[in-house]
Amino acid sequence: MRRPTPVGRVGRIMRSRIRRHPTAERARHTKTSPGQHDPRACYSTRPNPTPQIAMPELPEVETTRRGIAPHIEGRTVTEVAIRQPKLRWPVSEPLAAAIQGKRLREVGRRGKYLLLGFDSGTALIHLGMSGSLRIVKPDEPPRFHDHFDIAFGNRVLRYCDPRRFGCLLWVESDPYGHSLLASLGPEPLGEDFTPEYLFQRSRKRRVPIKQFLMDSKTVVGVGNIYANEALYMAGIKPIRKASTLTKRQSELLVAQIRFVLQRSIDQGGTTLRDFVGGDGQPGYFKQQLLVYGRGTEPCKQCGKALKEIRMNNRTTVYCTDCQR
Ligand SMILES: [Zn+2]
Repeated sequence: MRRPTPVGRVGRIMRSRIRRHPTAERARHTKTSPGQHDPRACYSTRPNPTPQIAMPELPEVETTRRGIAPHIEGRTVTEVAIRQPKLRWPVSEPLAAAIQGKRLREVGRRGKYLLLGFDSGTALIHLGMSGSLRIVKPDEPPRFHDHFDIAFGNRVLRYCDPRRFGCLLWVESDPYGHSLLASLGPEPLGEDFTPEYLFQRSRKRRVPIKQFLMDSKTVVGVGNIYANEALYMAGIKPIRKASTLTKRQSELLVAQIRFVLQRSIDQGGTTLRDFVGGDGQPGYFKQQLLVYGRGTEPCKQCGKALKEIRMNNRTTVYCTDCQR
């Protein structure tokens, strides 16, 4: 079996570089004829009016990884406190004893899972619908939804999750072979996610292209918002059958999926400091979206009203003219 590209080390280079509003320097809106337009030019330099994302998606999980890693990597676990073991799945019972006194090698990520790698095994954390992690001081009193702490001396990794759809599991064997990770598709920013891969994978698939992209077996981390945005950027109608995707469109789609995710991760860089400290929810950043949350508003490329439909029970927004 081919091992997925690990994500852990990439962020270290970024560790001390907190980027400030990279989009501010991006191209201004310029008017060109439909078809020749680069949708990236539609991002305005004004503050973003769209609502904040509530559910952690891949960029938020990667931002979390970068936010917490510098504070805990290489440090030894001094205490584990599980206040509420009933998360989506019960917190693994052997976990506390297994990591006590052990040194955390690395904070990695696979899809939307964070992997705390110890020599004795791996703690798998998923943030679910409403989970967040932050670094607090040991004397910071836990709040109602703070379900577990992993203390590393004077730095405590604290998990908060009002809806309790997240998880904390202990895996002693190869974590990539765990049932939650084994069937995951390639990382969207990794080298295995190529236009050729997407093209071949989409053959004979009769589901709508948007649903196909949101399937974690196709590619991980393309949630509803990013699927809407990337399909708009690539000029592809979300309701088309996946099998109708051409090679050229596969190229455009891979490029735009990478672009929208990378752009969000870059924007998340401005929030890294929010992971340290006691108050508030860290790191889930506002971002500029071109179609999601803008149903019936004018398309930023052609001016026609966007169309909003429900597909597979998810909000789907697209332009009937710019997307084919
Ligand atoms: Zn349009």
